[in-house]
Amino acid sequence: MTNPDQNELNCQEVVELVTDYLEQALLPEKQAQFEQHIEKCPGCDTFLEQVQQTIMMLRKLSEQQTFPETKQELLEIFRNWKQDESKSDFPMI
Ligand SMILES: [Zn+2]
Repeated sequence: MTNPDQNELNCQEVVELVTDYLEQALLPEKQAQFEQHIEKCPGCDTFLEQVQQTIMMLRKLSEQQTFPETKQELLEIFRNWKQDESKSDFPMI
């Protein structure tokens, strides 16, 4: 399958970039592509919202206890979670 528009992100890329996006670590061009995809893709829009909420929750938790998760581990959780669309709740650690 060819992608006629090289600037389009796919859902997998959105998942990969979501933490960088939330940390505002993306290049402006990449960020614009990310936002374009979010606008067109309800699944990723919901995903982004839930990740934002989860990160806020994890930040609160980390203030109260030792929080050993690395960014990579978080990304792994998000990736597995996204693959299982039947799950509506974030798997708690
Ligand atoms: Zn998507």
